[in-house]
Amino acid sequence: MLDKTIMQEMERIVGEKNVLTRKVDLVTYSYDATADMPRQIPDVVVMPTSTEEVRRVVNLAREKGLAIYPRGAGTNLSGGTIPLKKGVVLSFQRMNRIMEVDPDNLTATVQPGVVIQDLNNAVLPFGLVYPPDPGTVATATMGGSVAENSGGLRGLKYGVTKHYVMGMEVVLANGDKVRFGGKTVKNVTAYDFANLFVGSEGTLGIITEITAKLIPAPKYRRSMMGLFKKLEDAGNTVTGIIKSQVIPATLEIMDRTTIETVENYTKVGLPTDVEALLLIEVDGMAEEVVEREAQAVAKVVKENSGDLKLATSDAERDQLWAARRAALPALAQLSPTVVLEDATVPRTRVTDMLVACQKIAEKYGLKIGTFGHAGDGNLHPTILADANNKEEMQRVHKAVDEIFATALSFGGTLSGEHGIGIAKMRYLGDEIGQSGLRLMRSVKEALDPHYILNPGKMVPEKEA
Ligand SMILES: Cc1cc2nc3c(=O)[nH]c(=O)nc-3n(C[C@H](O)[C@H](O)[C@H](O)COP(=O)(O)OP(=O)(O)OC[C@H]3O[C@@H](n4cnc5c(N)ncnc54)[C@H](O)[C@@H]3O)c2cc1C
Repeated sequence: MLDKTIMQEMERIVGEKNVLTRKVDLVTYSYDATADMPRQIPDVVVMPTSTEEVRRVVNLAREKGLAIYPRGAGTNLSGGTIPLKKGVVLSFQRMNRIMEVDPDNLTATVQPGVVIQDLNNAVLPFGLVYPPDPGTVATATMGGSVAENSGGLRGLKYGVTKHYVMGMEVVLANGDKVRFGGKTVKNVTAYDFANLFVGSEGTLGIITEITAKLIPAPKYRRSMMGLFKKLEDAGNTVTGIIKSQVIPATLEIMDRTTIETVENYTKVGLPTDVEALLLIEVDGMAEEVVEREAQAVAKVVKENSGDLKLATSDAERDQLWAARRAALPALAQLSPTVVLEDATVPRTRVTDMLVACQKIAEKYGLKIGTFGHAGDGNLHPTILADANNKEEMQRVHKAVDEIFATALSFGGTLSGEHGIGIAKMRYLGDEIGQSGLRLMRSVKEALDPHYILNPGKMVPEKEA
C-alpha cells in the first residue's frame, strides 16, 4: 500500500472511482496471460480517462519514485504487464474512445484502450479494415498491441501492427506530451519516433492516442487445407507457394501433436494420421484473381504430395479456421501450465525448426505441440507442463533455452510477435550482442533515466 497522501493525490487526479486499492480488485492485475511468471499484487491501479490525467499521474509517480506499469487487456505472452516493483498499474480500460474514423484519408484515431475488434466493427460499414489480428482481437487493446507490435494470422500479406501506425501521441517519463506523424501518407519529418514507440513494450513512453491506417476490406477469399504425411512436404509447400508468386493472406501450420489435440477437443474431423497440415487463405478485390491464386496454391499443395480440401462454403471455411483458432485452447486443456513461445525463423527453415522442436520434446521428455504462422516463419512451440512439478519445470526451462538457441542458429529471432517482456530478457544479448544491449540502454536512459516506465521488462538494467 502506498503512502496515504499519494493515494489521495491519485484520487484527486483521476477521481475516486478510478483508483483501485482493495486486494480483491488488485489481484486481477498481478498477472497476465503469460505462464510460468512471478505474480505480484500491485500497490494501486489507476484508470485515467484523458491524456492530461495520464500526464499528471506520470508526474506524481516520478516525483514519488514510483514505477508505472501500463496495461491494456493483459493478454500479452511475455510478462509485460506484471508490476514487479513498488508503483502504479496504469490501466487503459476507461480510455477506450474511437475518436474518429476518416474514410477519405483511410485512417482512424483512437484512444489506447479501444479493443481491436471494436475498431474493426466501427470501420466495417465504410468497407474498411484494420488488418493486424492477434488471436485475441476480441479482447486485446490498440495500446497494448501497438506497444507489443503484435502480428497475427494475416501478417504474411498485410504485415504487422507497425505497418498500420501513422501517428501517435505519447506521454514521456518527464511528463511531456509529444505527437509524431498523423494522417499524411508521407512523413519524413524528424526521427521516425512513432516507430520507436511501436514495440517498445511500455518502457519508453505511455501511448495515449493512435492514428491507424485502414485499408479497403478484401471482397473475395478462398480457404483450403493441405494434409501432409511428411513434415518436409508441408515445409516445401510453404516456400513453393511463395515461389509461385502468390502471397496468401494466411498460411498456417499445425504439427501432428497439435492436430491430434485439436481433433480430440473440437471433433471437426481432422485426420490424425498426418504429420502436418497447412491452412491457407487467399483474398482480394477481384473474384477471378482470387480464384486464379487459389488454383495456383492448390497446384503447389498437390505437387508436394498434399491431400487438398478446398472450402466450398462459408460454413466450411469457418470450420477450417475454428480448428486453427482452437489450437491453443485445445493444447491448454491438457495441462495446467502452457508455455507458449514464438521463436521465428526464415521461412525456408520452418521444417528444420519443426523437426528441432520434436527432437527437443523427446530429449527432455516433454509434450510440445507446434503451430503457427508458417508463411512468416513465426512458430509457436507450446510446452505442456505443470508449474507445481519443479523437476518438470527445470526440463521445460532447458527446452525453452534450446528452442531459442536453435531459432537463432537458423538465422531467426527470439520473438516474431509476443515481445521480450520478462520472459525473454535473459536471451536478448544472444541476439543483439553487448553493443546492441548498450544501444537499448542508451535509448531507454535518454527517455527514462530513472527506469520508472515498466522497469524489469525488455531492457536489462545492468551489463549482463
Ligand atoms: C490466446 C492468445 C492468442 C494470442 N495470439 C496472438 C497473435 O496471434 N499475435 C500476436 O502478436 N499476439 C498474440 N497474443 C498476445 C497478445 O494478445 C498481444 O500481445 C496483444 O496485442 C496485447 O494487447 P493487450 O491489450 O492485452 O496488452 P497488454 O498485455 O495489456 O500489454 C502489452 C504490453 O504493452 C504495454 N502497454 C499497454 N498499453 C500501453 C500504452 N497505452 N502505452 C504504452 N505501453 C502500453 C504493457 O505495459 C505491456 O508491456 C495472443 C495472446 C493469447 C493469450
